[in-house]
Amino acid sequence: MPDSNFAERSEEQVSGAKVIAQALKTQDVEYVFGIVGIPVTEIAIAAQQLGIKYIGMRNEQAACYAASAIGYLTGRPGVCLVVSGPGLIHALGGMANANVNCWPLLVIGGSPERNQETMGAFQEFPQVEACRLYTKFSARPSSIEAVPFVIEKAVRSSIYGRPGACYVDIPADFVNLQVNVSSIKHVERCMSPPISMAETSAVCTAASVIKNAKQPLLIIGKGAAYAHAEESIQKLVEQYKLPFLPTPMGKGVVPDNHPYCVGAARSRALQFADVIVLFGARLNWILHFGLPPRYQPDVKFIQVDICAEELGNNVKPAVTLLGDINAVTKQLLEEFDKTPWQYPPESKWWKTLREKMKSNEAASKELASRESLPMNYYTVFYHVQEQLPRDCFVVSEGANTMDIGRTVLQNYLPRHRLDAGTFGTMGVGLGFAIAAAMVAKDRSPGQRVICVEGDSAFGFSGMEVETICRYNLPIILLVVNNNGIYQGFDTDTWKEMLKFQDAASVVPPMCLLPNSHYEQVMTAFGGKGYFVKTPEELQKSLRQSLADTAKPSLINIMIEPQATRKTQVNTVAKQKARNASASPSPSKKYLPNRTPSIVHRGLSKPFLSLAV
Ligand code: ADP
Ligand code: MG
Repeated sequence: MPDSNFAERSEEQVSGAKVIAQALKTQDVEYVFGIVGIPVTEIAIAAQQLGIKYIGMRNEQAACYAASAIGYLTGRPGVCLVVSGPGLIHALGGMANANVNCWPLLVIGGSPERNQETMGAFQEFPQVEACRLYTKFSARPSSIEAVPFVIEKAVRSSIYGRPGACYVDIPADFVNLQVNVSSIKHVERCMSPPISMAETSAVCTAASVIKNAKQPLLIIGKGAAYAHAEESIQKLVEQYKLPFLPTPMGKGVVPDNHPYCVGAARSRALQFADVIVLFGARLNWILHFGLPPRYQPDVKFIQVDICAEELGNNVKPAVTLLGDINAVTKQLLEEFDKTPWQYPPESKWWKTLREKMKSNEAASKELASRESLPMNYYTVFYHVQEQLPRDCFVVSEGANTMDIGRTVLQNYLPRHRLDAGTFGTMGVGLGFAIAAAMVAKDRSPGQRVICVEGDSAFGFSGMEVETICRYNLPIILLVVNNNGIYQGFDTDTWKEMLKFQDAASVVPPMCLLPNSHYEQVMTAFGGKGYFVKTPEELQKSLRQSLADTAKPSLINIMIEPQATRKTQVNTVAKQKARNASASPSPSKKYLPNRTPSIVHRGLSKPFLSLAV
């Protein structure tokens, strides 16, 4: 059957670009992010003509991050449109990030004309092959007539089973090719994924293991957020009075301020739970692999996941529930309903958790209340939290900025937190913020995006501020500026360092220029910029930014360059000792003896200490 959108005009010709755009439209693609150039410009224009939004970005990597966040937020893939060769290569970071996060994404890459293949064509590269490692599905349609089928398959692959990235390659000669309208077959919109449920007997066993738990814990991951399981999980938590812990992007599935949220006693909860139910959270590095000493050696894991291959990774689970999280949670609820039951709210476990939460919360409040300048992370985040709109998106990336920020900044709604994620990717923030802002603008006007960036993280995609200003997006960027990666140096120390002739062999690798005026990047494009050093300045600028709905803004917040997560002194010190014994301290190597007293802190991974 010819495509009904073209059927009336069967003698007419249609360009390849239009066929591609129509195939995307049929699959309900709402947003395309990209950078145009040969040979994809016509595709972007054709997409816009069909009512698809095209957002031009400044780097394909950020465009790809943005498109992937659309997939997570809406459940249908966003599209990243890139030119051949280097354009596609830049997008690989976004594809890998989406695939590792299990987020749907469709990348469309232009490629050289087919008759120039192997001849050293302009930007020629084995694109389909290159993308295979980063995707679930990577293909080039055999003809323009095959495009609607391949795009449907790519969209379907991106959302069915475990979601992920897909790639479709479009040779340049497809784009301007004119074909008979009647030769284009109609392919239907791919339906939402079929819902799968767990085996009844496994649900029964899981319910009995949970009921018999002495120290149960639910872990809510971003899979639960993606599955829209908020209602059923909240019911499970409340009806059976079970403590829960969100993973970084699981925050908000049940609100962070819920009385049963034990986020503030994370390490304690993980370490002493005897039964842990994982709702869409993998036992990877974020959850310390599910292994001792962070967990009891005999802890019983109940894994709920849509991906069969995930079940049993790193631990031998007591029960596996293969299926959609929302459906499986409802199955559990039904099973529990059969015999009245609830976890005793006066149990010793609840008491232990509450005590630990209280002391941890007091410790971070104490740090926040310190009045010394420059500010520390806690002071900054407590002031931000005070003004954070309840329904805002929180985007965050950086090392301490993200780790500490996550413990203070609250999420009340599901799918409203986006961060460096499973891949620990730096540079995602602005792309994610742009995607969230597009969704906010279209779905709930007035909603804001607060993007909390470390100064180093901001640098990866800083020029996307121009994109933010061009589309006038409702984004407030906060750059938490410590003059460096992990830690930086103050101006005096910096000046001392510059006395050495060869800065490149002296300046520590984590150092960035002190007191950089990142807010001027925003004012350069017509947004509002603030440079703040005190809590009062921070409060005022944030109030103004929130009140000013007409323009995006950037608040550059100067903090103590050597600030760390002070409540975790022991954990961090231990890790540093480990780092130090593994390799000699780089400071000795980099800094001549005459260097002023620069305290070189050992390098640590981002998220080093997720524990509160
Ligand atoms: P987190 O970073 O929050 O720990 P992960 O990305 O590690 O979360 O885990 C998310 C898990 O959720 C993945 O294993 C993925 O297969 C799973 N998942 C995604 N969507 C669904 C769904 N609808 N139902 C069940 N599991 C899902
Ligand atoms: Mg920094």
